[in-house]
Amino acid sequence: MPPGCDDYLRILCLDIPQRPVGSKGNRMATAFFQEVVDKYGWIVESTPFQAMDWQDGGADFRIGEKVFQVFPSPYSTGCSLEACLTSAGTIAQLEEVDAAGKLLLLHDELTKEQLMPKNFVFYNPEDHQRIIALLEKKAPGAILSVTSRNAALAGGVYPFPLIEDGDFQIPSVYLTEEEGQKLLPLVGNSGSLTSRAKRVQSEGFNLVARKGQDHKKRIVISAHIDAKLNTPGAIDNATGVIVLLLLAEKLKDYQGDTMIELLPLNGEDYFAASGQMIYLEQNQNRFNEILININIDGAGYYEGPSAFSPFNLREEIQKSLDEVLASAEDIDEGGAWYQGDHSIFLQQSVPAIAVTSRWFLENIDSQEITHTPKDQPAIVNCDKLVNITEAIYNFILKAYPA
Ligand SMILES: [Zn+2]
Repeated sequence: MPPGCDDYLRILCLDIPQRPVGSKGNRMATAFFQEVVDKYGWIVESTPFQAMDWQDGGADFRIGEKVFQVFPSPYSTGCSLEACLTSAGTIAQLEEVDAAGKLLLLHDELTKEQLMPKNFVFYNPEDHQRIIALLEKKAPGAILSVTSRNAALAGGVYPFPLIEDGDFQIPSVYLTEEEGQKLLPLVGNSGSLTSRAKRVQSEGFNLVARKGQDHKKRIVISAHIDAKLNTPGAIDNATGVIVLLLLAEKLKDYQGDTMIELLPLNGEDYFAASGQMIYLEQNQNRFNEILININIDGAGYYEGPSAFSPFNLREEIQKSLDEVLASAEDIDEGGAWYQGDHSIFLQQSVPAIAVTSRWFLENIDSQEITHTPKDQPAIVNCDKLVNITEAIYNFILKAYPA
């Protein structure tokens, strides 16, 4: 028996410790992917890139005898300083506050949403950019942010890090609303913050595996291979990578003219989106060669059916999809959603199908699993991944006959 879904799930989520870009586990995961697709005769292009690994190390904050629980923001530098605690809850207050060298406590309106990384090009609301620019201008010695829940942008994490950005240089930590409530009355006092977080220069690899002759007609099947820190990343997104690996085997004898690319994008959950940026760069002015993108993210949840969401498909392609889904097991057509790598292709006018679990679509704003330790193999049903693989395979052959 060749290795199957269960083996892949065990290797990606248990044998390999973690898969954040820049970590050893991330390099183990891309090496494993390369090894499997190699075996099935795929030609692999591997692009190395500089990445940032990050060590947490914990943090302490105290005012006098009182100790408060704070967490280092991912990818923040560490710090050790004693300074006056000041605060801002709105953009207007942030504009007014004198925070230079101080400890700046952010709360309320300013901390509702996780701020997009400053150099993130795919989605970056103006008010996020404004807050980041103001923080840099005010130059506090360190930032403490009080956050609650925000599943749509931060996954199921509580509290969530307001800032998660290796390109942002002010040290920061984050804390729960409960701790924030205790801290707000103490603004004006001197506090002492020590964060033992550490940035480590490292590297990662972005892979593309190919079969087929004509690069001017490409079907790109993608699934991000990286995961957030502190999660096994089963649904997000080992399951997507597993579908790519199952397809690699199923298509091992593929000799069609249309080129098929299996793309384990390395960076969907990383501030610099490195793999996505590399792929964009490598395909500059070549996105018109791509017939369709099929992106898998959040698939295989044990409850409910899988969901294939079509975007901008031509009529006959949509018809092929309808036919495949009609005979597919446990898969429905899903509505539009944009929090995944298919959006990169949509922005380049490439039609796409996003593959996920109905559960994820229905709970995208409230679920508490992705980006947390709860995202582990026990919530995955491998049968669903086998069905998804079968449906993608059938769709490709039907919609784009060689
Ligand atoms: Zn994901």
